[in-house]
Amino acid sequence: MTPARPSSSPSGPTTGAARSASLFERARAVTPGGVNSPVRAFNAVGGTPRFIRSARGAWLTDVDGHDYVDLICSWGPMLLGHAHPEVQAAVADAVSRGTSYGTPTEPEVELAEEIVARAPVERVRFVSSGTEATMSAIRLARGFTGRDVVVKFAGCYHGHVDSLLASAGSGLATFAVPGTPGVPESSTALTLVLPYNDRAAVEKAFAEHGDQIACVITEAAPGNMGVVPPEPGFNAFLAETCTRHGALFISDEVMTGFRAGREGQWGLDGALEGWRPDLMTFGKVMGGGFPAAAFGGRADVMSRLAPEGPVYQAGTLSGNPVATTAGLTTLRLATDEVYAHIGAAGETIKSAAAAALAAAGVPHVVQATGTMFSIFFTDPADGPVRDFADASRTDTIAYGAFFHAMLDRGVYLPPSAYEAWFLSAAHDDRAVQTVLDALPEAAQAAARAREEVQ
Ligand SMILES: *Cc1c(COP(=O)(O)O)cnc(C)c1O
Repeated sequence: MTPARPSSSPSGPTTGAARSASLFERARAVTPGGVNSPVRAFNAVGGTPRFIRSARGAWLTDVDGHDYVDLICSWGPMLLGHAHPEVQAAVADAVSRGTSYGTPTEPEVELAEEIVARAPVERVRFVSSGTEATMSAIRLARGFTGRDVVVKFAGCYHGHVDSLLASAGSGLATFAVPGTPGVPESSTALTLVLPYNDRAAVEKAFAEHGDQIACVITEAAPGNMGVVPPEPGFNAFLAETCTRHGALFISDEVMTGFRAGREGQWGLDGALEGWRPDLMTFGKVMGGGFPAAAFGGRADVMSRLAPEGPVYQAGTLSGNPVATTAGLTTLRLATDEVYAHIGAAGETIKSAAAAALAAAGVPHVVQATGTMFSIFFTDPADGPVRDFADASRTDTIAYGAFFHAMLDRGVYLPPSAYEAWFLSAAHDDRAVQTVLDALPEAAQAAARAREEVQ
């Protein structure tokens, strides 16, 4: 394989990944797996993760001096691209006035107003991560309804909340089992895990446990098993079913919020189909590259939170002035033009990737919701990917070869076959062309990997 190009001579030969490799070795001596979030370790694709030193616009530069077009975008947040001058200026200005006071601040109010203006929520509470947002939303749903059971869908990721790190039990309406060591059975004993897009499974769960179910939580459009759009009316069906049974509908838009479109996934189907979530969770884009997240929803539900109500929830750095300034500036700059640009760049990359894979004879399925998309290395004869069982058919060996061939040609894709490819407003013609140029040979590499397995 041809290694990535050093930034000093864009078409010249490689200088290798020696510094990344040596940092990775040091990292592994002091941090489990050498990373602070598992997917970064390249375990799913093999090889050494590139340690990034800096980023600007659509480009990452690693510690060995190689440039990559970034198709991870920090797993979603960098909607405007890296080091956006206005975001940087606003953050620098905020930092110059101190970084945390533990008191209310103006940017929190402004960011909350911005979110309330865009999303179907009346009140929001800030936290520091998407995990905290979903954990808190579930506690609030339980506190509000006085019920304990939570329904989630297999393949939807809501952060590393104990009760949600759960795998389906032996039957559809039986309670879940822990999805990882360290989660007690008692934490998942109140969780039902159902197949996504499966109305019959939801109806069965409510028929058997309806008066115990506090909430249904779902990704508004799953992006954590690759992009799996809700079938038309599925979110509306969930909202309606919850309402009928006195449960709350929690729409997790940590990934899709202000990313799939200006109003997130809700703007794509909720507005159209005429439903609203009772609670929503946000993160990623709304933090503008800083640790900020939020949950919000109906005023009567949110007013049950402390100090207005009895349900406790708190955070030392919640609503941090630097983080909320970054998020506010990002959302204010996230205009319709930004989404149109990201959508168009995505169309170009999607169709070129599909053409390259088709030419190389690599089976694949392209799926999208709004401006978010992913490419499954599954057989189109099996139909679209509707749920986690479908997504699990993806050919991870072929993806690994494809991923490394792209990386060697200066494109940093997500190091896992089950992730969306993220773009930004800064992905200009040069960045897109770099991706297009890399695709045909990467598709050939995927085809060769398939032959070797057979
Ligand atoms: C990323 C993500 C989370 C978790 O957010 P963290 O900030 O990583 O804790 C929750 N839900 C969804 C849908 C996500 O994509």
